Amino acid sequence: MSRVYNFSAGPSMLPEVVLQRAQAEMLEFRSAGMSVMEMSHRGKDFVGIAEKAEADLRELLDVPSNYKVIFPQGGATGQFAMVPMNLLKGKASACYVNTGIWSGKAIEEAKLFCTAKQVASSKESGYTTIPKRSDWDIDADAAYLHYTSNETINGVEFQDIPQAGGLPLVCDMSSNILSRPLDVSRFGVIYAGAQKNMGPAGITLAIVREDLIGQTLPGTPGIFDYKKLADNGSMLNTPPTYNWYLLGLVLEWVKEQGGVSAMEARNIAKANKLYTAIDASSFYSNPVDPAYRSRMNVPFRLANAELEKTFAAEAKAEGLVTLEGHRSVGGMRASLYNAMPEAGVDALIEFMQGFERKHG
Ligand SMILES: *Cc1c(COP(=O)(O)O)cnc(C)c1O
Repeated sequence: MSRVYNFSAGPSMLPEVVLQRAQAEMLEFRSAGMSVMEMSHRGKDFVGIAEKAEADLRELLDVPSNYKVIFPQGGATGQFAMVPMNLLKGKASACYVNTGIWSGKAIEEAKLFCTAKQVASSKESGYTTIPKRSDWDIDADAAYLHYTSNETINGVEFQDIPQAGGLPLVCDMSSNILSRPLDVSRFGVIYAGAQKNMGPAGITLAIVREDLIGQTLPGTPGIFDYKKLADNGSMLNTPPTYNWYLLGLVLEWVKEQGGVSAMEARNIAKANKLYTAIDASSFYSNPVDPAYRSRMNVPFRLANAELEKTFAAEAKAEGLVTLEGHRSVGGMRASLYNAMPEAGVDALIEFMQGFERKHG
C-alpha cells in the first residue's frame, strides 16, 4: 500500500485512522452482525451513531441549544436553494457578498427565488480580497445576509465574522468549518458540504437558529424544509447512513486531536509555512491580499505558466497529488484541510524548492 499526500480541494484527504477504523468495522459494526451500510436507519445501532455525531458536532462547535443541527441532502449546492426557500418568509430580497466563485453560484441560485442583492463584490480585483465591511450596502428590508467564509477556488478567507447589520447572518462554511473555533450564536444559518473538512461527499450539515424556521416559500418540498428535517431528526427519508457514520468518525478524530483550537493551531502553522515559501521565491506567487489568505486552500502560480503541467506530473511522481488549480482559474492549488499532516506540507515545500532549482 502506498498512500499519497492528496492536496485535493474536495473530496479530500481523510485521517488515516478514520479509514482504518471504518475498515475494521466494515464487515461487522461492533456486535451488530452487519455493516453500517446494511442497517436500518431507524434501528438502535444507527440511531446511536447518528445521535453521537450530532452530540460531538455540538460539543466541538459549542452549538447553543436554540440551534438545530440538521443533515440535509443535496450538498452545499442544495443549500444555495434551501436558504432562500426557508428564510425569505415573505420578503422579496436577500443580501449577498460576492467574494468568489462559490458566492457567485449561491447568488445565481438565490435569483430563482428572490432579488439577490450584491452588497459588495471583489470581482474587480479578480477575487483576491474581501471588500471592506464599512462599504457594504446592506438593505435593512432583506431577509438575510449571506457570505462565503472561505472561497475554496480563489483562496480567500474571512478572518472574522462580519457584522450582519441586523439581518440574520447566513454562511457557506463548506471549506473551513471545523478548522478554527466559531461563535455560532452570531449566525442564523451555517451550512457546509462534508467532503472538504468533515467526511465523505454525500452528507451536508446545516446549523439553523430555531426561531428562523417553520415558514417556507409556498410549494417548497418537505425534503427541503429545515423545520420538517429538524422535527424528524433529519430522517424524513432514508439519510446517507454510511456517510453519516464516517462523518461521526471524523468528528471523534477532531475531538481526540484536541478539538477545533488544536486544529486551528496546526492549520496556521501549515499555511504559514507554505505562504512563507511562496513569498520567498520569485518562481512562485500567490495573488491574494495577505490579510485574507485562506488557511485551507492555497492557490499559486508559476512564473512560467508553461511549466504547470510538468510541475503537476513531477509532483505526482513524488506522491504529491491533485495540485492542479480549479479548471475555471488554472494555476496550482494546495488544499490543507484538517486531515493534511504537517509532513505533507513539508514534502510539498521541499518538492517546490527542488523544482525551482531544476527549472527556475
Ligand atoms: C465545494 C463547495 C461547495 C459545493 O459543495 P457541494 O457539496 O458539491 O454542493 C459550495 N461552497 C463552497 C465554499 C465549496 O467549497
